[in-house]
Amino acid sequence: MRTPDGESVISVRGLRMRYGTRDVLNGVDCTARRGEVLALLGPNGAGKTTTIEILEGFRARSAGEVSVLGSDPARGDERWRARLGVVLQSWRDHGKWRVRELLAHLGSYYAPYSTDRIRRPWDVDDLIAAVGLGDHADQRINSLSGGQRRRLDVAVGIVGRPELLFLDEPTTGFDPQARREFHDLVRRLASDETTVLLTTHDLDEAEKLADRILILLGGRIVADGSAAELSRLMSTEARVRWSLGGRSFERTTADSTRFVRRLFEEHGAAVEDLDVRRPSLEDTYLSMVRESEAGRGAAAGSERQESTR
Ligand code: ADP
Repeated sequence: MRTPDGESVISVRGLRMRYGTRDVLNGVDCTARRGEVLALLGPNGAGKTTTIEILEGFRARSAGEVSVLGSDPARGDERWRARLGVVLQSWRDHGKWRVRELLAHLGSYYAPYSTDRIRRPWDVDDLIAAVGLGDHADQRINSLSGGQRRRLDVAVGIVGRPELLFLDEPTTGFDPQARREFHDLVRRLASDETTVLLTTHDLDEAEKLADRILILLGGRIVADGSAAELSRLMSTEARVRWSLGGRSFERTTADSTRFVRRLFEEHGAAVEDLDVRRPSLEDTYLSMVRESEAGRGAAAGSERQESTR
């Protein structure tokens, strides 16, 4: 759900990050409105974690304008930080603690940051039920299964009722049922106006969960839109396969309807095994990654050539 004025929770313009002499982010632009679920996609090393850490205030940027919940993360104070939730890797400490105990303890830190609108922290038993750990509330953390631990990670991330939640590959290691329950939870959070920014390698997850998908490649956001918008934007060509008299044919065309009509006009009932396929979001994403890598390879090649002159 969005507020009527579409208030910006994240606003990033021209974000740059350089490690040593290497530019990892070359001018990232993006925004998120209240209650939106965004998925940030990109191959390993694209700079997703760097971007998220800058937004969380954990990492100082090299250049650019960044506003998160109305503040510059580089100057975010405790009160600002209490409005964020972060789910990173699995919770490895406090193995002897019990689930309810740990969440009550961590939640107590948020109590001073309640507002008229948001009561912090989340009631522990409601939270445990919401993440599907109802049967494990009194279990020690080191006896939880991998999937249960991941649910606990999510509970730890949202115990302070964050207005903005960062999820780094949240469903790694989930079985299909846990994944579905987690998706339902994220949707519930979003309908309560929590803004969610998640990274994932699972295109299917991005497509199911995100209002908008952002693709980070070559240090920039190269595509930004709903899954349907990205598919329309990028998948203009379709592959048509058919056979005629026992021989197989294949053609890529931007106007498959016209092409198929012509095919039937010419060959009528002799056309067999007709198959028209548009690239899926995953096909399109992978071909963008390949193109970007080929471009980088070519650029590196020309740099090498210049340096040998
Ligand atoms: P992703 O999360 O998309 O895999 P990262 O943001 O972790 O990407 O990393 C982007 C690039 O920046 C990688 O090449 C990584 O090696 C480099 N990098 C990340 N953190 C540092 C750091 N502290 N110092 C130097 N290089 C780093």
